[in-house]
Amino acid sequence: MSRTVLVLNADYTPLRVVPWQRAIGMLLDDKASMVESYAGRMVRSTSQSLPHPAVVALHRYSRFRNRVRFNRANVLARDGYTCLYCGTKPRRPSGHPDLRQLTIDHVVPRAHADDRGQILVSGERRPVTCWENVASACGACNGTKADRTPEQARMRLRRPPRVPTALDVLWMALFSVSIPDEWRDFLPEGSPWRNYWTAELDA
Ligand SMILES: [Zn+2]
Repeated sequence: MSRTVLVLNADYTPLRVVPWQRAIGMLLDDKASMVESYAGRMVRSTSQSLPHPAVVALHRYSRFRNRVRFNRANVLARDGYTCLYCGTKPRRPSGHPDLRQLTIDHVVPRAHADDRGQILVSGERRPVTCWENVASACGACNGTKADRTPEQARMRLRRPPRVPTALDVLWMALFSVSIPDEWRDFLPEGSPWRNYWTAELDA
């Protein structure tokens, strides 16, 4: 059974999650070294059998250059699958986020955009559908707010929507896998993805 691999930067901070084949390539190209392997698991490359990497570390420091696709799934992930208005976190019985109960709200409603579909964001003309003007919202909050700005609806965003950072990108990757024990020492204590299910996102 194949598993994903946590890639650490040269300073041992978590950088990204990659398929095991890519991690093997990094090891064979001498771009990274093995930090942890999955006990008792081997993987076969063209000519040799290697311990299955669980965590590898880059030899050279990599600057974050991840760009995040602007789509519904990533907006919900950026917001921690939480309604940015009331803070509710819809979950399925399994504990995973219940995406069907979250909607994408336009903070400044589409109806307020000019005839080019733009609004003013921090003094700049931006398309009404942009990272800074969309927020995850539960159905109830979205319905209450309707075609109004938060001010008009007397609703407050718990934090301003923003373009995701490289750390958000890592978070998104980690949401899609269950975190193996072998990674835990490398995920910072108290980081949202380490204790994701219990963490309060809005301290
Ligand atoms: Zn809500």
